[in-house]
Amino acid sequence: MDANVRLRDIPSVDELLRSAAVVEAIECFGRQPVIEALRNVLAAIRNEVREGGDIPTSDAIATAAVAALETNDRSTLRPLFNLTGTVLHTNLGRALLAEAAIDAATEAMREAVALEFDLESGKRGERDDHLRALVCERTGAEDATVVNNNAAAVLLVLNSLAAGREAIVSRGELIEIGGAFRMPDIMLRSGVRLVEVGTTNRTHARDYRDAIGPDTGLMMKVHTSNYRIEGFTKEVGARELAEIARERGLPLVNDLGSGTITDLERFGLAHEPTVSEAIADGADIVTFSGDKLLGGPQAGFIVGRSAFIDKINRNPMKRALRVDKIRLAALEATLRLYRDPDRLSERLPTMRLLARPKADISEQAARLAPLVERTVKGAFNVSVIACESQIGSGALPLSTVPSAGLALAPLSGSGRILAELAAALRRLPMPVIGRIERGSLVLDLRCLEDEEGFVANLEHLDPPGGGPSS
Ligand SMILES: *Cc1c(COP(=O)(O)O)cnc(C)c1O
Repeated sequence: MDANVRLRDIPSVDELLRSAAVVEAIECFGRQPVIEALRNVLAAIRNEVREGGDIPTSDAIATAAVAALETNDRSTLRPLFNLTGTVLHTNLGRALLAEAAIDAATEAMREAVALEFDLESGKRGERDDHLRALVCERTGAEDATVVNNNAAAVLLVLNSLAAGREAIVSRGELIEIGGAFRMPDIMLRSGVRLVEVGTTNRTHARDYRDAIGPDTGLMMKVHTSNYRIEGFTKEVGARELAEIARERGLPLVNDLGSGTITDLERFGLAHEPTVSEAIADGADIVTFSGDKLLGGPQAGFIVGRSAFIDKINRNPMKRALRVDKIRLAALEATLRLYRDPDRLSERLPTMRLLARPKADISEQAARLAPLVERTVKGAFNVSVIACESQIGSGALPLSTVPSAGLALAPLSGSGRILAELAAALRRLPMPVIGRIERGSLVLDLRCLEDEEGFVANLEHLDPPGGGPSS
């Protein structure tokens, strides 16, 4: 039959709008989006018919339009299962917030709050007032302020205290954190001239002393949070550096990065320098992140001596880098949890996940293995394995936490089937993100708390190379 004649047989938008499926879709998505989706599907069908293809039924057209609407309506920022084994995964949003922080943030979103308003006097207040006491009490610092993230904190501190002057840093501490945070670049952008001292592996006190001159604005120590230099090494400790800085009347800035405010040993982890230790060791300013080991929302803390914090607060850049009421509310609620360290591992997801015992995770893996096996039957062998979780975000880079998980190994075929399985897992209503390791797809179960949700979600899996649905 002539293609033009057949084109006339394609149902019209008006006809389709009367079908039950489309009426239902209008309820859900609204009239305009549904009409647009139908037009898109019809345009594609017209092209196919011109090429000699068949005309689908009205039902099939409606179904295709609804499917397109559903796909389009899904947020790309939707929740997922982080089974990568990295607890604080920067690309997956780092710390999960405590319920108390979520409640506080939700309330702050919904209501007007006394953000810069002093309820006592009825006069103007300061944003930092809500956090200052809590931060100082947890860190021993005199004063504190908070900005968008730790990169912003470092930028602001350098610019406020040493713009147009020199900052002295050991060569062994010129870090790069993933995502374009490189200490030399931040220094340049903050208007500070970087003076590198020592060598990659060894820096001595005399290197710092020799570098100090009339243009020196500050001395800086950077926690090498995501690597270690081992072997024939020498670094000048924070305490000794503080002495040198004090002798010469210079501020010492310590960028801790993760900067925990509690002893991680409590949770069975290795020691990570705390903010209190850095303050006690004589740093004038310490910077650290809100969404790394602290377990709160993205933020950058600047704590230390009042005179320097005042100077930082007077910098107009501060206004450009400040945080909003939502994050302040979440930060305040998170910090409050630290007043009761005994219950921290129950209440703070970051600590709860990091402290989760391996035996508990192994049991969960044993429970889930048969279910996962059934889902990928015929294509993959599923086994319970011991593995190592990472803290992530540059905290304790060399120490891992014993964990357990599932390894899905292809029964036959190439490495491509693994990539296909990983893609199928990413397409689930709640995407599952694992890691490919030594010929298997590994799901580290340390961060799997909603086991029921995981199992229900898995029913939607369309695995490559067989499986129950093919
Ligand atoms: C993570 C880190 C930063 C950057 O902090 P963000 O909160 O990601 O901006 C800076 N310095 C060190 C040492 C870090 O570990």
